[in-house]
Parts: sequence; structure tokens; C-alpha cells
Amino acid sequence: MVPVTASASDIIVVGGGIAGLVIAWEAARAGRRVIVCESGDDTGGMLRRGRVAGVDVDLGAESFAIRTSGVADLVADAALPLQIVEPRPEGAHLVLPGAFGRVRRMPLPRRAVVGMPAEPEAGDVVRAIGRAGARRAAQERDLPAGIGRESGVEPSLFDLATARYGRRVAERLVDPLCQSVYSQPSSAVRLSAVHPSLWAEFERRGSLTAAAGAVAPAARAGSAVRGIDGGMWRLAAALRDAAEAAGAIIRTGAAVQALRPAAYGVEVVLAGETLRAGHVVVATGPAAAGALLRVDAAAPVGGAVRLVTAEVVSRALDARPVGSGVIVPPAAGGPAKALTHVDAKWEWAARALPVHTHVVRLSARDADAPGLDTPAAVAGELRRLTGARIRPADVWALTETRWTDAVTSASAAAAAWRTAARAATPAGIHLAGATVAGTGLASVIPHARELARELVARTSHPATA
Ligand SMILES: Cc1cc2nc3c(=O)[nH]c(=O)nc-3n(C[C@H](O)[C@H](O)[C@H](O)COP(=O)(O)OP(=O)(O)OC[C@H]3O[C@@H](n4cnc5c(N)ncnc54)[C@H](O)[C@@H]3O)c2cc1C
Repeated sequence: MVPVTASASDIIVVGGGIAGLVIAWEAARAGRRVIVCESGDDTGGMLRRGRVAGVDVDLGAESFAIRTSGVADLVADAALPLQIVEPRPEGAHLVLPGAFGRVRRMPLPRRAVVGMPAEPEAGDVVRAIGRAGARRAAQERDLPAGIGRESGVEPSLFDLATARYGRRVAERLVDPLCQSVYSQPSSAVRLSAVHPSLWAEFERRGSLTAAAGAVAPAARAGSAVRGIDGGMWRLAAALRDAAEAAGAIIRTGAAVQALRPAAYGVEVVLAGETLRAGHVVVATGPAAAGALLRVDAAAPVGGAVRLVTAEVVSRALDARPVGSGVIVPPAAGGPAKALTHVDAKWEWAARALPVHTHVVRLSARDADAPGLDTPAAVAGELRRLTGARIRPADVWALTETRWTDAVTSASAAAAAWRTAARAATPAGIHLAGATVAGTGLASVIPHARELARELVARTSHPATA
């Protein structure tokens, strides 16, 4: 029989990703006794540090959306010693299939949201979808608000974009953006789930063009995101320091094996010991949460996410040929669905890297398919996507990162799973993180802070207990 440690904590957090760390910091600074159990050997979860070309870079999330003020508020409220930075102004590119198996490269339309243009006849839109496509898209503004929603049920994002803007916008802009940002085809998601504020504007204004105009960043592609000087991994590292300084106990290499509701609170079973607390927050990925809560429905885990980060030494990339990166729709083929030219996107990376040295992240279209395994394969894909003459010998090092428990939050199956998970969650156990808040720091952080405040209010302060 494994001994139960006498209850020494108000809250135990399972998972030391950003959600778990937010809860630990909020609860500890309010005087609650908190323990974080993290199975890995470091905290941060998908905010992960790696060293490439002698520089610390992100191997997971590398930016955050400013559709909420969640990250900026956290940095300010916790007085984290971090500087929020804007990406360089060039923006990203899109590739489309061209003649003879090649691709055509073009800047992404500047004023668009999930590929839906605010100015359908702008030059950058015409370049992507042609004049006829742009003329058709421009009619969207004058369509009756009900077009695309005749059945009364919200259609898929692809069907909505097709009905309102025409097929070219749906196929060449909306679907590639959706696949790249949400890792799902636009036929599998709904706009209200992937971009609630754009959907709300559409409902208010009756036109996607007008809605995109209200939501789209006025200036340029990419301006809807920010980063942290030196990398997003620093956010998790600094927050961990703040949580520990406030009194939270953070344990790594501490995999939680089971949760058991007990007479007073919840028992948390680890290898060789059992802890007990009044409240337990499960802030893991969906598969781990589903196993701990014994949810019957399949967890909303997509395929694995595979990133290959390359150190490339070549003058051919000095001119930043594709700005901050490239989005690659399925029709353009190839093993990568997106490329980020890290030092073209972030000034701090450019400053830190030696001359003619570049860091490029390639996101695999299919994590289990071969490709991007060797310098020659990576050089070939870089040549194809950037047009720069990269030779295999220019690719000095490759770092592969794989994520197997990442959320596909936008799908209908994910919504059903969340309902099943909430129903399976006994009193005293709570869910946090991307599993319930949706993918991305802009969603995860505000959700975790709100839950933490609720738990603080529900746990009596030790001094007053
Ligand atoms: C490659 C990649 C790029 C991304 N890019 C961006 C981006 O640019 N901008 C953005 O906003 N978002 C991005 N995201 C999404 C964002 O990173 C996540 O939504 C967010 O970090 C999720 O945080 P979390 O705390 O919910 O989960 P996680 O970060 O997954 O943390 C969960 C933690 O729980 C631990 N754990 C699991 N099981 C157990 C157990 N049984 N016991 C103890 N611990 C356990 C895990 O080890 C992990 O550390 C990206 C994600 C990936 C994978």
C-alpha cells in the first residue's frame, strides 16, 4: 500500500506547461499551498528551449496572438523580466502549384483573417487568386447575410468561404491558412470555433469582407502576433521562477499515474507515493487528461506534430527571400506544410546568429511520412520553397522535435470530448490548458488565470483556516 502524504497542499497541478505554471503562480501569490507535478525533466510543455547554431531558440510555440491581451497582461502582472517584441515587417509568403512541378511564391494578402480578405481586389489578393477570383470575391460584401447558412446550421469553414467568396478564396487562401495555423482542413472546422471574434463580426455585419475589415490588422500580415525577446520559452521559464518565488513547489520527473476522489479532496498517485489536496487541476494534453479522468470518448488529439529546425549557413538566405516564412497548401505538395525563417522573423535571433547563419523551421505535413530527415532532403525543400540556392552542405545541423499530445481544438469531435470530459470530472478536479481552453497562448493563459482565481476564492487561506 502506497502511503498517502499528509495533506500539505491546497492545490495540486498535474502538468507544468504554461497553463499549470499560470495556476501555480496565481495560487501561490494568493498564499495557497501549491504543488506542480510535471512528468518531463523540465517545465514549459510546448514552450520548449533548444540550442541551434549556438543560440537558444524555440522548438515549440514561437509567438502569440494578440487577439487577447492574455500574454501581455501576464507579463505585466507577474512583473516578468521579459520584453514583448513585434516580428519584422516583411510578413509571410504563400506558395501555390506552378508549372512543371514547381511552385509560385507570393506574399500573403496583408489584410485577411484566416485567409478571408478584407480587400478582395487588393493587388496581393489578385496575385493569389487571379482577377476572376478576385471579382467573384468582391461580390461577397453585397450578398444577403443568409448566403452560406441556408440550412440554419453553421457550415464548415470551407463551405462558408466557398459560398460567400467563391472557390478560389476557399481553396487558395482559407484552406492553406487553416491547415497551417490549426493543423486541420477547413472542411473539418467551423469559423465560430477557430476564430470566434471574426464569426461574431460576421453575425453582426452580415458580410465576411466587412468582418475581416473590422478584425484584420490594418498594416500587414503577421502583425496579429508578437513574440518575446529571446524566445517564447522564456515566458515559461520566467513564470516558473515567479511561481517558485511566491512559494509554489514545482516537481519535475513526477508523472501522475492516477487521480482518486477521497473523503477530503483528491488523491494524486505518483510512482511510490500518493499526495492529497483539496483541489487538483489537470493541465496536461488531451490524451493524458482523458486517461487520468477515464473519459470514454477519444481525446481530440490530431496526428503528431513534427518540426525540423535547421541551422543553414548560406548567403542565399541573407536577403530573406520569403520574409518570415512560407505557408504551403496541400496542392503545392512536398513534405513541409510551413516554413519559418526564424531570424528573418525575429530581430533578436538575427542579432544573435553569426553572419550568413540562419535558423529555419520546417513543419512536416505528415509527422509519420518520410522526408526532411537528411541535410539533402532539407536543402531540397528549402530550395523549392524559398527559391534560394541551398546546397546539402549548407545545412549544418538538424534538430527534430515531435509532439504527440497536441490538441485539435477546433473540431466538432474536440467539442464533444470537452463535454464528455467535464461530465467525467469529479468534484475537486478541474481541467485547464489547451485541452479545454483551445490551442494557443492567447486562449490558454486567460482561461488558466480565471480558473486559478476561482480556486483561490474556493480555498480558505491558510492563515484564516
Ligand atoms: C510546434 C508547436 C508550435 C506552436 N506554436 C504556437 C504559437 O506560435 N503560438 C501559440 O499561441 N501557440 C502555439 N502552439 C500551441 C501552444 O504551445 C499550446 O496551446 C500551449 O503551450 C499549451 O499549453 P498547456 O499548458 O495547455 O499544455 P502543454 O504545454 O502541453 O503542457 C502540458 C504538460 O503536462 C505534462 N504532463 C502530461 N502528462 C502528465 C502526467 N501524467 N503527469 C504530469 N505531467 C504530465 C507534459 O509533460 C507537459 O509539460 C504551438 C504548439 C506546438 C506543438
